[in-house]
Amino acid sequence: DKMLTIKNLHVKLEEEDKAILKGVDLVIKPGEVHAIMGPNGSGKSTTSYVLAGRDGYEVTDGEVEFEGENLLEMEPEERAAAGVFLAFQYPVEIPGVGNLTFLRTALNAQRKSRGEEELSAADFLKLVRARAASLKIDAEMLKRPVNVGFSGGEKKRNEILQMAMLEPKLCILDETDSGLDVDAMKLVAEGVNALRSPERSFLVITHYQRLLDHIKPDVVHIMANGRIVKSGGPELALEVENNGYGDLLAGV
Ligand code: ADP
Ligand code: MG
Ligand code: MG
Repeated sequence: DKMLTIKNLHVKLEEEDKAILKGVDLVIKPGEVHAIMGPNGSGKSTTSYVLAGRDGYEVTDGEVEFEGENLLEMEPEERAAAGVFLAFQYPVEIPGVGNLTFLRTALNAQRKSRGEEELSAADFLKLVRARAASLKIDAEMLKRPVNVGFSGGEKKRNEILQMAMLEPKLCILDETDSGLDVDAMKLVAEGVNALRSPERSFLVITHYQRLLDHIKPDVVHIMANGRIVKSGGPELALEVENNGYGDLLAGV
């Protein structure tokens, strides 16, 4: 049983003839946590964008299957409805839109596209309060406009709450290059760990090993120059932490 299968994925920018992904192979089973590490510019974020269906990229070869369906043929909204969730790279600020409204709209859009009934206001409130409490998120944050004036840590926490509400099957987390401070990182890790389950998988993209001190991955992949060049257990992340990418990428 596989959740996500990426086979020989080649991607270039739509605007120019620049190959970015050059044959990515990756299989994620239900319940597994995979981490992708790698030097800046190696194609980690591009991988996450292509999985989420962001504009601007053209798949020139290869396949992506999500629960037996061709993911690449699905619209971004269909992917979200199917259970693919991309978090973190650039959390948007939405002035004027309260967090509760945003969450309810997102949740009901998802339910609608799955052919499910919308939640009543009361049921939604009950659910969001319970989820927030279980993630130790202050109910006060629910009333504020989405991400406006949030600290870095609050934005992360908010994304974790979105994730908890939408109950995705595959959560893709793409940490920004600048990384997180230690407290924000712990929050993210606690949130992810709370949401881990035998049916839910995670693809955690990070430039640093630190996050993986708190989220224990089943498999670690090293990406370089548009390909996954090495895969292993958590020890691979430690190797990067101690020795950098030099030795791992020598001869690749
Ligand atoms: P990573 O996340 O591993 O740092 P990215 O996926 O962001 O790597 O980028 C991979 C390569 O593709 C880099 O060389 C980057 O400059 C290039 N790239 C990605 N997106 C764009 C874009 N929209 N326009 C120009 N170059 C891009
Ligand atoms: Mg980058
Ligand atoms: Mg990146």
